[in-house]
Amino acid sequence: MTSQELLELRSEFPALQMKVYGKPVVYLDSAATSLKPRRVIDAIAEYYSTINSNVHRGSYRLSQMSSDAFDHVRNQVKAFIQANSKDEIVFTKGTTESINIVANGLTGYLKAGDEILISEMEHHSNMIPWQILAKQTGATLKLIPFDGTGSLDREAFDQLLNSKTRVFAITQISNVLGTINPVKQMTAKAHEYGALVLVDGAQGIVHGDVDVQDIDCDFYCFSAHKMYGPMGIGVLYGKKEKLELLSPLNYGGGMVDQVTPVHATLKQLPQRLEAGTPNVSGVIGLGAAIDFLEEKGWDKISTEEQLLNQYMHERLNRLGFVNILGTAIEKAPICSIYIEGVHAYDLGVLLDKFGIACRTGVHCTQVLHDRAGLNGTLRASMAFYNTMEEIDTFADALVKTRGMLV
Ligand code: PMP
Repeated sequence: MTSQELLELRSEFPALQMKVYGKPVVYLDSAATSLKPRRVIDAIAEYYSTINSNVHRGSYRLSQMSSDAFDHVRNQVKAFIQANSKDEIVFTKGTTESINIVANGLTGYLKAGDEILISEMEHHSNMIPWQILAKQTGATLKLIPFDGTGSLDREAFDQLLNSKTRVFAITQISNVLGTINPVKQMTAKAHEYGALVLVDGAQGIVHGDVDVQDIDCDFYCFSAHKMYGPMGIGVLYGKKEKLELLSPLNYGGGMVDQVTPVHATLKQLPQRLEAGTPNVSGVIGLGAAIDFLEEKGWDKISTEEQLLNQYMHERLNRLGFVNILGTAIEKAPICSIYIEGVHAYDLGVLLDKFGIACRTGVHCTQVLHDRAGLNGTLRASMAFYNTMEEIDTFADALVKTRGMLV
């Protein structure tokens, strides 16, 4: 990207114009939530200013228009992740809800003695629902460890998989280590044992092209807010016959056909799993985010992000006092660090004074941090709107803050 192109890209993000303590914001927290381009913000405001109405319920023109806009996004998502049918796209509140719908929906599918396999690098959202499912069904939860570089232990994976493994749930990209897991190969292996495979795509959806049919996973979950879209909306993709295995998490309007005083028949997918008024403005915002990503193109996005990532690692390594947690070869632009003798929280508070927005703590991965023997890290996560100068600002600020703390 030329510097002119980068300037133009940055001008699409109103939040990048923010100043913090009089300094331009250096936003290094895109793994928590990405910034939103103007067109996403406008699409939401436009919906509420014009065709605002509930979907699939009204016989009037405006309701038809919002239903059309809503249905259009379902088709957009289908194409975006290469699903086979729009009926495989269920709108949810986000990744967390998507995973909970699957875990809750499988209560009748598992029995005592079955096994659920996840990894030690999972986000709490892809760990706790499985802990609960295991407790409810008497199944055993097993975890794949990771090595010193933050890569999954593939030998352990091979050993842990067996014919009792009914579910394998794995993150595509670790939100702390940045590791890009070989989900396609792991899915194929898990399928050899007949396990259902869920991929947590919360981080994976924003750093490269996702083809769910190529991965061949049974479920793929993601949130719009990490891919330049709004909060409160996400997707559960599932192969049709696998979604049909799930008993709904919620019951109510919009998902039923016939209702008697004592019984209700349910609609077909995807409505069967979408009870209640959906987040229509969120869906429309998600559609605008997909348009944005498609216009920019994955080639440009991943090239820029890899350059930023490389520079971040080089720059931090040169400082000599920064430890990076997660150095896998296949890595997304997420850099979690710790400095001997410095608490991550103190570092984060001081970096804030330089206008730098980073995350501190365990980032919803307590097991991962326990395994690494750390009580927290400071995470700098990037998107293609970041600049090399921002990385310099971050590195220089680390030198200064360490000077104050050690
Ligand atoms: N999984 C991973 C890997 C994540 O990074 C996140 C968000 N931090 C989630 C799941 C949960 O996503 P959400 O909070 O949007 O539901």
